[in-house]
Amino acid sequence: MASELIDSFGRVHNNLRISVTDRCNLRCTYCMPEEVTFLDRAELLTFEEITAFVRVAVPLGIDKIRLTGGEPLMRRDLPRLVQMLRGIDGIRDIGLTTNGILLADQAQALFDAGMRRINISLDTLDAARFRQLARRDGLDKVIAGIHAARRAGFQPIKINAVSIRGITEAEVIPLAQFARAHGLEMRFIEYMPIGADHWERDKVYFAREIMEQLESCIAPLVPVDDYDPRSPAMEFRYTDGGGRVGIIASISRPFCMSCNRVRLTADGKLRNCLFALDEVDVKHLLRRGVPEADIAEVIRKNVQSKWEGHEINTSRFIKPLRTMHAIGG
Ligand code: SF4
Repeated sequence: MASELIDSFGRVHNNLRISVTDRCNLRCTYCMPEEVTFLDRAELLTFEEITAFVRVAVPLGIDKIRLTGGEPLMRRDLPRLVQMLRGIDGIRDIGLTTNGILLADQAQALFDAGMRRINISLDTLDAARFRQLARRDGLDKVIAGIHAARRAGFQPIKINAVSIRGITEAEVIPLAQFARAHGLEMRFIEYMPIGADHWERDKVYFAREIMEQLESCIAPLVPVDDYDPRSPAMEFRYTDGGGRVGIIASISRPFCMSCNRVRLTADGKLRNCLFALDEVDVKHLLRRGVPEADIAEVIRKNVQSKWEGHEINTSRFIKPLRTMHAIGG
């Protein structure tokens, strides 16, 4: 089926990231403020509303979904949503991005509901540094969650670490070794201005520096053969056979020109970019019972109007009002 979600730069959109809650059990400094007022539950899209939206989006070309938050596992009964989405013809992939705190209890149920791909955020293996970054304890729970995901059979399991100068230098090698030892794919993500804290370019620990560390302390890296040009991560494999590593160089090598993503926030706003300054209220349309054809037109127009990409490296950059936890990662 030909995609109808093509923007004015020719980018085809097949990837929908759905935030199911803005709540989180951590308070990571790069994502959200410590004191925060969460959405009232009535503001959240119901599972039925999310599913209704996806049914409209699939014929337009959406075939890949990622559930995000906040922390998506704080939304009660998430496996039920996974099952509902699995039941929609045309969805070929459902993934999850989680902080892992609640994963040990939920991994098997999510797997049984049909989820197979999971990304777990983990910036450090040091408990004190975890607390410094997340403003909460929880390292042991995240590690337990990772092992539960392995036992349940998730594949691939990717570990996402935000790369911040002054913090990440000491974490790159322990995290990479941990991932290699347990058959996980480590991914380092350059720190972006989407949290509540004051972002400075100098705080980004760059992809090039991460690569240098990995190659000098572990093994040379070469690009993988099955590299997906639409993936935000540059993916490499260790030449000693010790697995793969991904680098998401959001700042030093923006990948906006191959972007295939749109986002639905927990309160039902459609955003055509993580950094979008405008959004469209689809909850309102869903609750008013607007015909599907009209909602489809709203989605098409939202994608068509997408800008070239974030302008973090320019003086034109404007930080969105919402922080990451209220958009969905
Ligand atoms: S910044 Fe926006 S356009 Fe660029 S990759 Fe992210 S979502 Fe896509």
